[in-house]
Amino acid sequence: MAKFSPTAAPRALPVSRMRRGATVLLTTLTLSIVIGAPTALAKTPLATGTGGAVATISAAASQSAMTILNGGGNAIDAAVAAAATLGVTDPFSCGIGGGGFMVIYLAKQQRVVTIDSREMAPAAFTPAVFLQDGKPIDFDSAVASGAAVGVPGTVRGWHEALSRYGSRSFRQVLAPAIRTARQGFTVNETFNRLTTENEIKFRQFAGASALYLSGGKALPVGTVIRNPGMARAYSEIAARGTAAFYGGPMAQAIVDAVQRPPMVGGATVRAGQMRLADLANYEARIRQPVHSTYRGYDLYGMAEPSSGGMAVAEALNILEGYDLKAMARPQVEHLYVEASRLAFADRNAYLGDPEYVEAPVAGLLDKAYAAQRRALIDVNQAATRASAGDPYLFQDDQSVPLRPAAARPPRQESAHTTHFTVSDKDGNIVSYTFTIESWGGSGIVVPGYGFLLNNEMTDFDFSGPHPNVPEAGKRPRSSMAPTIALKNGKPAFTIGSPGGATIITTVLQTIVNHVDLGMPMNEAIDAPRISERNGAASSVEPGFAASAQGQALARMGHRWDAEAEEIGAANALVFHADGSVTAVSESRRHGGGAALVQRTGH
Ligand code: GLU
Repeated sequence: MAKFSPTAAPRALPVSRMRRGATVLLTTLTLSIVIGAPTALAKTPLATGTGGAVATISAAASQSAMTILNGGGNAIDAAVAAAATLGVTDPFSCGIGGGGFMVIYLAKQQRVVTIDSREMAPAAFTPAVFLQDGKPIDFDSAVASGAAVGVPGTVRGWHEALSRYGSRSFRQVLAPAIRTARQGFTVNETFNRLTTENEIKFRQFAGASALYLSGGKALPVGTVIRNPGMARAYSEIAARGTAAFYGGPMAQAIVDAVQRPPMVGGATVRAGQMRLADLANYEARIRQPVHSTYRGYDLYGMAEPSSGGMAVAEALNILEGYDLKAMARPQVEHLYVEASRLAFADRNAYLGDPEYVEAPVAGLLDKAYAAQRRALIDVNQAATRASAGDPYLFQDDQSVPLRPAAARPPRQESAHTTHFTVSDKDGNIVSYTFTIESWGGSGIVVPGYGFLLNNEMTDFDFSGPHPNVPEAGKRPRSSMAPTIALKNGKPAFTIGSPGGATIITTVLQTIVNHVDLGMPMNEAIDAPRISERNGAASSVEPGFAASAQGQALARMGHRWDAEAEEIGAANALVFHADGSVTAVSESRRHGGGAALVQRTGH
């Protein structure tokens, strides 16, 4: 079996050093590869220098990106290398069994393009797929099922990225990940905690139990997990490209696992109806980014089927009408929460797969529409749940008959995905969020290939009428918000995060912290998060309620869930006027991330 336990705990930098270090020499670390044992890589959340840069939540993934950059690959090549490695070391958050969204800045053309590799509903899907006797089925049993699995888009997305904008082959960029899958990675506290939280799901499934549990329990910290199946899957893609994944034995294994999920003992789950033709027919989409402006920045975000770019843009358009720089932090945070509430009311009512539903995009992005929404905000008092507005009045063609359903409470959305960002010496940039939806996706591991299948279909609204109801061939609405910001035509920063619908608020709050409150990006990311998604109450992180701004917000009538939880895991790059770059990852959340630059110092 693919696990050996336990070995020495991985080396980690003391937190005090991690938080202090402004310039870190990680790129000069030479790795002593001991055959048969994984190398414990140090992590640092902050690095400034020149040349290319990368920030991911995984030391091994950041190192893979750096290996490709140092070998002359560009940011797009390095992004695929990092993503493939994240699929190994963060297999519950992302991987080839899922999908995602990549925002790319092409320096030479000065263009931003995006690649949508979102999972697609199989052709057998109907709007009633998650209904029983006309009622939505229980969310957890929908998640752990073949029915939840959408046609995976990640490999097709990587192919589009490499073949259109990259300079390296699958074989070259997958090599570091194949090595990591073979040599293994060491279970850390975060991995152990999150596996523990999902033991019940994983216990039902043969593959997940064998790879990630021992005696039905999460593998202890220090265990080395090797994944020869995933190494095989990557090797086949390296040899034959997308054909290895979307046809042939691997496609057959995916379809079999969806139709007859391999279970432990007598456990049963709903089967799915994915067929070989669904895989063969899958296409990634090259889409125009959502473009908006905020205080002199040009922001490029992800368009539908993600709601990320639109919701962030609408909320910032609302906030732009206030002189936030002149305000105290609690006042700024109050307005940020209120703007988010209004943007979410619209996002919940209107957005979905643009190939199925025509959303009033121009109206939602209109500054005059934002002004109308802003007028609903009480600058001293928290609102209750907001209703969707009428952006059709701000469209060129106002004749569109669709009017929103009454605002609905947001559905349960889980919070496990990964976001990272890479740049290269020529100024190309990638901001990429990808996922298998819930922690551990559907729980189904494809036999022989070691990767988990997504449960992205549970991102659909289970009942309609709604723009986001399940339909054959449709992509469920996402919240992923990989973002690239330019100022005066030059790259300024990138930002993105995992976290389900809290992705939108993490990106928004970090931008406000950085742009309006003037925090350096590492402080903007570190600051305790509050997330308002037009539900019954906001969510906050531990430490927020007791903070000065937390107490001030409570006095303004804000309410949040009693149980505080870590929100998101952001990664960012900041580009400086002198040509240097700062890579920023989390210092604490998700166990801390790994920021690297090609050449340290200025
Ligand atoms: N499925 C979610 C989305 O597309 C992301 C999952 C998560 O971050 O938990 O928005």
